[in-house]
Amino acid sequence: MLDTLRKLFGFREFRPNQESVVRALLAKRDVLAIMPTGGGKSLCYQLPAVLLPGTCMVISPLIALMKDQVDGARSNGIRAAFLNSSQSPDERDEVMRHLLSGGIDLLYVAPERFILSHFRETLSRVPLSMAVIDEAHCISEWGHDFRPDYLSLSDLVTLFPETLVAAFTATATHRVQQDILQKLALRDPLIVRASFDRPNLLYDVRFKDNPDAQIVALLKSNPGKAGIIYRTSRKSVSDTAAMLQAKGFRALPYHAGLSDTDRKRNQEAFIRDEAEVIVATIAFGMGIDKSNIRFVIHADLPKSIENYYQETGRAGRDGEPATCTLLFSQGDIPKVRFFIDSMPDEAERERALAALSKVTAFASTSVCRRRTLLDYFGERYPHENCNSCDICLGTREVVDCTLEAQMLLSAIVRTEERFGAAHIVDIVTGSQNKKILDFGHDRLKTWGVGKHHDKKYWRRLIDELLAQKVIQKTEGLYPTLFLLPKASRILKSEERIDIVRVLEKKKAHPLTKPDEAPADSQLFDLLRSLRKQIADEQGIPPYIVFSDRTLHDMAAQLPRTAEAMLTISGVGEVKLQRYGGQFLRLIDRYCSDHDERKA
Ligand code: ADP
Ligand code: ZN
Repeated sequence: MLDTLRKLFGFREFRPNQESVVRALLAKRDVLAIMPTGGGKSLCYQLPAVLLPGTCMVISPLIALMKDQVDGARSNGIRAAFLNSSQSPDERDEVMRHLLSGGIDLLYVAPERFILSHFRETLSRVPLSMAVIDEAHCISEWGHDFRPDYLSLSDLVTLFPETLVAAFTATATHRVQQDILQKLALRDPLIVRASFDRPNLLYDVRFKDNPDAQIVALLKSNPGKAGIIYRTSRKSVSDTAAMLQAKGFRALPYHAGLSDTDRKRNQEAFIRDEAEVIVATIAFGMGIDKSNIRFVIHADLPKSIENYYQETGRAGRDGEPATCTLLFSQGDIPKVRFFIDSMPDEAERERALAALSKVTAFASTSVCRRRTLLDYFGERYPHENCNSCDICLGTREVVDCTLEAQMLLSAIVRTEERFGAAHIVDIVTGSQNKKILDFGHDRLKTWGVGKHHDKKYWRRLIDELLAQKVIQKTEGLYPTLFLLPKASRILKSEERIDIVRVLEKKKAHPLTKPDEAPADSQLFDLLRSLRKQIADEQGIPPYIVFSDRTLHDMAAQLPRTAEAMLTISGVGEVKLQRYGGQFLRLIDRYCSDHDERKA
């Protein structure tokens, strides 16, 4: 088993839970494995598929993804193929012939094919070692991606009693888990529930004051790296993408309003490392296997914690560090409320509201983000400090803002609670704009009392007062601010207002290896270009040639021989044979150039 792990995949050890799943399957026991994205689920069945006699059939819901899955398996030398409606009848016949002659270890099919009686008939003539159900939550009506086609998989154990069944998913509440077990009728299965923690992801929530500038700054701090920017509306997606293109970033939009062709082209360009950034609505993501996504930015509030977890989960599948940034301001809430209030279905509206309040709480608390996320999934985070979220990495400072809060509250009272946040800020900062002058607000006692702070400071304090339920916003298009009971106690100095400010530490990602010298990153870029060139020649995505982790490992270890190359994580025998020579030559040339320069 370990030998195959090394030779085929080039990995020296298993990730958590992989070994127990592989062992169970080799011992002919059914399995249900719930592992997070990036947990390494494919290896759990690909390895037994190679070791067990017969063919392993993988039921996978996304036809669009099958080619990449098969290319990925083949790149490690696994005899893999797929059967789906995108192929011509001739191509399908060819695969069938191969299947019947025992030439396929791993066969990907869509669930609708499994329903076809002639396909079932063919299967009965093939020794089937295993049936793997990928994205198994699709079988449950309680899950979020229910696929009626999946219900036909209930026939598996009766039609093929000798065949092992292994179900995999990255999302399953306990209810969905029970449903999967029952619908598939698994026989005394090994059930694995991995931790949902994604240790290589850094969570960072920032106050959103100028999203365009903030996005640009984030992209500049991740030059050339692949990332997704999520926005709520199609319009904001198009605007943000256009803004980034105008600034010279290779960014492309993705939303349901684009034509199929455009969407497909943009997604393809992203997968093939031709566009580094995709700006998208939540329509984007399902079926993205790209492992080298280094950052995800939410420029608007996600719909729910679950959505947030899934969307950020697309980063860092390869286990290398990745950053998830959420830009958040209380000012975004009315827009979302407006949208929710217009939902016709009452139950749906209530669910959306509950989800919104959980997300808002997540973004506003000063509790470790990781702890809060895991909490949501019913998992207790065992450490005090996760060392990779804005809360845990920052030093917290409690600032007494009672005096400043009084200035704001008094400006709201003196203008009879008839104005919005921007105008109140204009009053305390002493603006002389037309609206201020028209209303004679420059004669108010509070006009200009807060000049010593900038507008951003005041907007942030208003946010804080909204979050601490001192004030509230009216609903509708032009929300105005009004006081809640707590405000009068603050005005009378009976209660104080503290805000917890997280001071940003200028600290690198804790998972970035300190020995990663700039020279290595120069080599890394060269390795990356070579990877891209090879991928284009072979018509496969770059991450299938080698993962970012593998390239980093090469840049750090500088292998000079085939043997040394085999010790690099992700280099198995087949990849060594296919690509080893080219990469060794590149490293060789790089090293001698550098030695010369040093000498
Ligand atoms: P999932 O399907 O669970 O999201 P994948 O099967 O796509 O995860 O694996 C994610 C990444 O982790 C891939 O790049 C894969 O090569 C890598 N990987 C899987 N198992 C290991 C391992 N034991 N050691 C190192 N990397 C691994
Ligand atoms: Zn933390």
